[in-house]
Amino acid sequence: MDCLNNAGRLGSYRNTVIYSTLMPCYMCAGTIVQFKIPKVIVGESQTFPGAREFMESHGVEVIDLNLPECVEMMQAFIREKPELWNEDIMEE
Ligand SMILES: [Zn+2]
Repeated sequence: MDCLNNAGRLGSYRNTVIYSTLMPCYMCAGTIVQFKIPKVIVGESQTFPGAREFMESHGVEVIDLNLPECVEMMQAFIREKPELWNEDIMEE
């Protein structure tokens, strides 16, 4: 959502691709669907499975690169800032 705020008002997002280190959560996935962003490229979904099926069921193309660098980046982030991770990602 920060990313979309920073991108500003493009008018249409039909020709855009969003890149995310981690599989988007339901909140972010809902935003992606709402903005009609057609394609999401994801670094990894091991740390957090996110809402892939939700996006795909709304016609969003999701490509999961499953990159070890992204897993390491997320693990380092969780180690260094567990309070931020726990605040943002709610366990089901
Ligand atoms: Zn999110």
